[in-house]
Amino acid sequence: MPIFIPSSLTEATQLLSKNPDAHLLTGGTDMMVEVNFNHRHPDTVIALRNIPEFQRWNIDTASGLVHIGSSVPYATMEHGDLAKALPALAEAARTVGSPQIRAAGSIGGNLGTCSPAGDSLPVLAALDAVVHLQSESSRRSVSFAEFMVGPKRNSRLPNEIITGVSIPITNGWQGYAKVGVRNAMVISVASVCLAIHDNKVRVALGSLGPTIIRCTESENWINSIGLANIDHSLAKEFADHVRAESRPIDDHRSTAEYRRHAVGVLAARLLLRGVQK
Ligand SMILES: Cc1cc2nc3c(=O)[nH]c(=O)nc-3n(C[C@H](O)[C@H](O)[C@H](O)COP(=O)(O)OP(=O)(O)OC[C@H]3O[C@@H](n4cnc5c(N)ncnc54)[C@H](O)[C@@H]3O)c2cc1C
Repeated sequence: MPIFIPSSLTEATQLLSKNPDAHLLTGGTDMMVEVNFNHRHPDTVIALRNIPEFQRWNIDTASGLVHIGSSVPYATMEHGDLAKALPALAEAARTVGSPQIRAAGSIGGNLGTCSPAGDSLPVLAALDAVVHLQSESSRRSVSFAEFMVGPKRNSRLPNEIITGVSIPITNGWQGYAKVGVRNAMVISVASVCLAIHDNKVRVALGSLGPTIIRCTESENWINSIGLANIDHSLAKEFADHVRAESRPIDDHRSTAEYRRHAVGVLAARLLLRGVQK
């Protein structure tokens, strides 16, 4: 099986053009599981970890954006300036797998897999992130909402590579919370990202539907009340609004009923943390 290891984006997009059936690999923490379980049989692999611009991140205060290259691993998002700029992403990153998984697993791989349980994805949805894609001949950027189109389905074209994401910096509190069947090494049963920007709340849910759900009705409801007025009783009502926007299913990880209960608890807790009540 040929494994190409390009050292530039140009080389990678040319290789993908010439080998349209090639499988893209970053950390391999999703792909190698599929190979090991015989669910995927790559004839050709293009490994992207050696492309320098994919490994970089930067905080651009002039544009108010954080740019994260697709190969940046969770371990980098957990601490330091990146975590200070994007606390919700840091919290999400800390919940992923084990230290070994966080050292190898990347934001590009999470987007590539596009599971509704992907921990970085509710954060990208709540923060209005943009995903950057490049082929040999063109480059485009799409909002996260346009990028994720179904469970494990995204709008990446076969000749495109995810190069990274741009995430607007918010001026208010942001946080991420997840429930799983245990406290570590666990895929989420329900997850919520809540962010406050210009005194307005934004909420996105993971593992509560076929895609990440942005709760626009709940956002409008709570924002019409105003952050200064939020108390424990309103937080409970907010939980009900969020539950109403969730679309949980029964599966091997949980029941729809438990997920609906859990997401309300998480949303209310995050809201109260956000307004410090
Ligand atoms: C033990 C274990 C625990 C885990 N725990 C969690 C968890 O708690 N939360 C969570 O969200 N995930 C978890 N995962 C899943 C996985 O670690 C993440 O989804 C991770 O982000 C995948 O990144 P990767 O770089 O390893 O992707 P890879 O496995 O390399 O790739 C994943 C998919 O994305 C595609 N891809 C990779 N890079 C690109 C690119 N630049 N452009 C286009 N497509 C690309 C690949 O072709 C493949 O389809 C876990 C996995 C394991 C094995």
